[in-house]
Amino acid sequence: MVATLLPMFLVTASLLPIFNAHLERQVDSARVTAKTLLNAEYDALVERINESLNHTLAIAELPALHRFLVLAGAAKSPYQEEIFQDDRKQLKGLLNTLHTHFGRYAQMTLFDINGRRWLSSGEQSNSSSGTEKVKSNVWQKTSVLEPRSIYVSLPYLGASVVGPELTTALVDIATPVFSERGVRLGVLVFTVDWAYLVSDLPHSLRMDPKVKALLVDARGASLLPTAQSELAFGSVLSRQWPEAWGAMKSEAGEEVMLENRILVFRSLDLGNHHYRSQAEQVLSQTGSQPWRLGITLPRPTLGDLFSENPGQLISLMLTYMLAMSFGVFWVLTQHREETLRKKAHQYAVELEDLYEQAPCGYHSLDEKGRVVKINRTELEWLGYPKEEVIGRDYRDFVSPETRAGLDSAFRDVIEGREGSVECELLCHDGGRLPVAVEATAQITDAGFQYTRAMVFDLTERKQIEELLIKQSMTDPLTGLGNRRYLEAQADMEMARALRSGNPLSLIMIDLDHFKRINDTYGHDVGDQVLQAFSDTVRKQLREGDVLCRMGGEEFAVLLPETTSEQSTMVAERIREAIGSRPVGLGEIGKVEYSASFGVTLVDPKESSLKPAIRRADSGLYEAKAAGRDRVITSGPERIEDVSS
Ligand code: GH3
Ligand code: MG
Ligand code: MG
Repeated sequence: MVATLLPMFLVTASLLPIFNAHLERQVDSARVTAKTLLNAEYDALVERINESLNHTLAIAELPALHRFLVLAGAAKSPYQEEIFQDDRKQLKGLLNTLHTHFGRYAQMTLFDINGRRWLSSGEQSNSSSGTEKVKSNVWQKTSVLEPRSIYVSLPYLGASVVGPELTTALVDIATPVFSERGVRLGVLVFTVDWAYLVSDLPHSLRMDPKVKALLVDARGASLLPTAQSELAFGSVLSRQWPEAWGAMKSEAGEEVMLENRILVFRSLDLGNHHYRSQAEQVLSQTGSQPWRLGITLPRPTLGDLFSENPGQLISLMLTYMLAMSFGVFWVLTQHREETLRKKAHQYAVELEDLYEQAPCGYHSLDEKGRVVKINRTELEWLGYPKEEVIGRDYRDFVSPETRAGLDSAFRDVIEGREGSVECELLCHDGGRLPVAVEATAQITDAGFQYTRAMVFDLTERKQIEELLIKQSMTDPLTGLGNRRYLEAQADMEMARALRSGNPLSLIMIDLDHFKRINDTYGHDVGDQVLQAFSDTVRKQLREGDVLCRMGGEEFAVLLPETTSEQSTMVAERIREAIGSRPVGLGEIGKVEYSASFGVTLVDPKESSLKPAIRRADSGLYEAKAAGRDRVITSGPERIEDVSS
């Protein structure tokens, strides 16, 4: 709706001033046309009336006419009668000639001073006897006029020249006839075909049928024959066209814009001197002067513009159609764009969400290793607000121990390779978070932009790893460390002993005749004995001592900061504890058992614990051989023996 109405409104708003200007020009030109026509019509009308006035005056001065009128009323001698009849014939001939040569003259009548008609051209010419007295209004008006004065009647309807049964508009032009000596002799009346006289007015009509002429008297009665005017002959303008009469009442010529017509008019006063005839004075019916001659034209409208120039209308329609289709296209495009924008926004939100809430950390560093961007997940791990992280060196958040690995991975990335490292993040709460970082560089035509790193939380993996390591170093039956655990602990303790110079001792233990226990009570009981043994030994040891199950029923104890003498005493103590605490097993009752011990001092300079184990084992074999349930300590000399 808006898509069609808005462009139409815009087009209208922008074209209207143009059309208005164009219309105004059309109106101006119509006005000029009307004025030109008016002046031409005015001159033509004045010219024709003048001609008729002059004809009338000229005929009235004919000596034959004077002689005829003098003789008409008088008693005549036969000679005079002859002259009178001659003059009558001549005058009649002249009038008939005028009548036939100048079509405008419907009738010419000659009255004597008594108002009797003596001579008449046209139809009634034969009936004019001179005896009948005609009560002619025109005669009455004219018979009192001065020489060379003219009376012009108002146009009226009368019998046509063509046929008396037809009525036509006529006008009487009358002048008094005087003898050369100034004696009033009568009145000459020319009845003029008014339609013929004003026949030039439709001349404008012929040029353009839209042009109409108006001729009204001072009271507004139409003086033009119906065929030639807007109004019927004799109809009153004030009633027929009050709007026009409102303007034409004024005598001064004007141009008036009526509702849908342009009207220009001029006053035409027959009695006026500038009225260029030979007459001294021209009179007309009282109150009828001046006349107003008007020309009207339809006022040009936009409709006319288009009907005159269909091309303009077509191009206007095309413009509207173009504007409308543009509007529709625009709305559709907007709609599509809006949909795309919404979708894009949705994608952006989803992506943002994915970035921020990903189960792994994301960050980007600049070429100096400063944080450019970091996601919420990693921020939550670190426990810092974003403002405190952005712009900071990422190394600040990595533990010093793992920083070197990060640096080398960062160098890889800067040089365009993939970088990956496992390191520890330093969290705000003081904790450390093991993470794996995998990074690449965002490189455009302009070169390196920033790094893109994914950070994975390794806590769980580390825990599993630790658990696996622990499991791999633990004996499931007794919960003690196994041989691998002992070796690992030995590495540490030997290094420490080497640093501190403190002694480190090893006790190897093997349960005596354990096969018999298994054989006698079953394997399960054997297991319980192994567990009870572990507990008993543990109770005899210090915190730092390391008790391990080497396999089967063999055990080892590593004793830091302990001399072989002290270890021998510990072994002795264990041996006694076992002996005094047989394992209680319900129905079976108490199961007694014993163990043999080999003790030795560990030489921390040795590469592993193995030589010490071998020495202690040899003491252990000795104990077995000597009858079991005893402790044999292998001295330093034995170290030499075994190692050699
Ligand atoms: P000696 O005094 O000479 O050491 O005699 P011994 O019977 O203890 O020695 P030997 O090496 O012949 O036998 C060890 C036995 O220990 C054999 C094996 O069945 C048993 N044994 C090893 N590991 C386990 C275990 O986890 N549980 C049980 N119940 N028995 C075990
Ligand atoms: Mg054994
Ligand atoms: Mg044994």
